[in-house]
Amino acid sequence: MAEKIIIAIDGHSSCGKGTLARQVARALGYIFIDSGAMYRAVTLYLIRNQISLEEVEADPSILQNIRITFEMNPEGDFYNTHLNGENVESLIRNMEISKRVSEVSKVRVIREFLVHQQQELGKNKGVVMDGRDIGTVVFPNAELKIFMTAQPEVRAKRRYLEMLGKGLTADYDEILANILERDRIDSTREYGPLTHAKDAITLDNTDMTREQQASLAIGWAKGVIMSR
Ligand code: C5P
Repeated sequence: MAEKIIIAIDGHSSCGKGTLARQVARALGYIFIDSGAMYRAVTLYLIRNQISLEEVEADPSILQNIRITFEMNPEGDFYNTHLNGENVESLIRNMEISKRVSEVSKVRVIREFLVHQQQELGKNKGVVMDGRDIGTVVFPNAELKIFMTAQPEVRAKRRYLEMLGKGLTADYDEILANILERDRIDSTREYGPLTHAKDAITLDNTDMTREQQASLAIGWAKGVIMSR
């Protein structure tokens, strides 16, 4: 049997990293891990418990009360994010969390807490993980690294339509502003900033369909696996 690899997918906000990671994981029979969901779950926990970032920095042991797991849905095609046993998948996708998560993910002790868990999840390989620092910090030795991007307006429109499709209220301008703001904070923070790893392949999906991006990335992954 072919040796399993780690596939790191990093890139800008809302450019379909999760969709691509899921497509590649399904094609290879790998586990998909959405690292952004972990930052979102921590954000939800802190808001709910009215804990400030200063308090976490002063006492990082607060984080030990947070348990994040991924549970497969009954249809067997999607992982739901659970926070201390509760399914918070839809709660962590709302605008309030999207607006606060990048400030939360700037905090060094929070990054250390989650990076350690992400490394544990990938220790047996056979994992596709998407995020911002996966190819640079979490798995610097990942066998395949992809850096995704797309024009911000295209990303905002896709996210807008996706939210409407889910029956949620959505405001295009608010979504676009949030995407640009998260990119700015994520790219300029001190710890684990979003950067293009030297050895990452760029995938700009501005003019691509989901099927096109999937076949490209699955081809890259199979090429790497076969060359080993
Ligand atoms: O991937 P998603 O957009 O859901 O991630 C939400 C936020 O979590 C990002 O804007 C970023 O601030 C943070 N994040 C991070 N490092 C990761 C994944 C996500 O800082 N590896």
